[in-house]
Amino acid sequence: MPESTTPAYEGGCQCGAVRYRASGAPLMTAICHCRMCRRAHAAPAVAWAMFSEEQVRMGGETQVYPSSAEGRRGFCPRCGTQIFFRADYIPGLVDLTIGSLDQPDTLPPQFHYWHAEHLSWVEFADGLPRHAAFPPQG
Ligand SMILES: [Zn+2]
Ligand SMILES: [Zn+2]
Repeated sequence: MPESTTPAYEGGCQCGAVRYRASGAPLMTAICHCRMCRRAHAAPAVAWAMFSEEQVRMGGETQVYPSSAEGRRGFCPRCGTQIFFRADYIPGLVDLTIGSLDQPDTLPPQFHYWHAEHLSWVEFADGLPRHAAFPPQG
């Protein structure tokens, strides 16, 4: 595919110290309702776009918090914006927060996951598939 037609997504934190660029289409986009994301972001649900590591160029210093035995969450140490998620069970992949994109409307979610943990007052009128935990793999 010629470079000019390859989609690219740019984003960053609230203060601008962290900027990133993801080239090419994401592998998936989704809204996570799990308790870990909810607490880490202090938000009722979190939208993620998954890319391969090679697609993502990170600029600026991020701080990484090991939120579980397998998971690591990257955020701006100055303003606190959550930027990425990596985990041992998704080697070579990185989730970027759609909310930190400059143009988040360009990456709408494809499904919901960990919907079994969703808040009772959080209902999206999008008709997208709801997966109780992780979506079926393959
Ligand atoms: Zn910042
Ligand atoms: Zn989650």
